[in-house]
Amino acid sequence: MAIQQDSRPALPPRPSATNEIAFAGCAKTPPSWLTALVHHYEGDKKHAHEFFLSRHFVDGAEIVLICKKCHKRFALTTSIPTSTEETISQMNVKRGMCVVNRENHLHHLHTTNSTKTNVASECCYCHFTVNVVIYEPYIDVQIFDELQKTRPIPTYSNAARRINGAENEPNILETLELLSNIIKTLATSDSSRKLNLNSKQFISKISYDKASKAFFDKLEYKLEDDQYLTPPQLTEDYIIKSKHVSEEIDMRIMDISEKASRGCTISYEEPYGKLETILGTKCTSLN
Ligand SMILES: [Zn+2]
Ligand SMILES: [Zn+2]
Ligand SMILES: [Zn+2]
Repeated sequence: MAIQQDSRPALPPRPSATNEIAFAGCAKTPPSWLTALVHHYEGDKKHAHEFFLSRHFVDGAEIVLICKKCHKRFALTTSIPTSTEETISQMNVKRGMCVVNRENHLHHLHTTNSTKTNVASECCYCHFTVNVVIYEPYIDVQIFDELQKTRPIPTYSNAARRINGAENEPNILETLELLSNIIKTLATSDSSRKLNLNSKQFISKISYDKASKAFFDKLEYKLEDDQYLTPPQLTEDYIIKSKHVSEEIDMRIMDISEKASRGCTISYEEPYGKLETILGTKCTSLN
């Protein structure tokens, strides 16, 4: 995994009152705005979001972040004030400079909206705006939690037990990897779409229980003859959904691998460098 610790926004010592970092508090410079975004939760389990760049929105107009912990997506767009007409000024705004604030060229971002699903801010100097729309994951994280309850995280000791034949239960990483594989090959392979619940592979790596049923329900699979799971018609929307689901599975695989101190072949880019360029957290002089 790429280590980009130094590009992360500096987090202040945790204050006892959350007001200082919440969007409802005072107006923010870009670094403290980013800190507020990392700590933005409304009615959720408290956590600092661990953002990665989503792979499925790369059209340049918006940046989409996915949190490794809650799997929510944060779609961020910015707009340059229409009054900024000179091309050179527009370019500077694009590079994250506040062209009106001559003192340090940092935007001063005032919150215009802060809810569970949206954060919007505007710079009081130049009217540059940032808008963040927050989407719920396709597969609730609770479903992953449930899968994990009955499927152990692989350790060397249960690998040894398995070799001795004492254990033949799926472990959570095998389950997630096979689920990921099923989702990823949906659009490309014809033959493997129909899943046989009685197949050796399904039993040993996934196993059909309440938790895995909930997962397939979310993907609108239907049970046939008490033995086969079949996906719905593969529409364009469904393919897009499946790509997001595969990203959500990746996030959980990364999370478990990290907790179990195991190597992980999946890696996603961290977004902080990109965010700093857009919001101007590092910019202190015009050049
Ligand atoms: Zn999160
Ligand atoms: Zn500004
Ligand atoms: Zn201001």
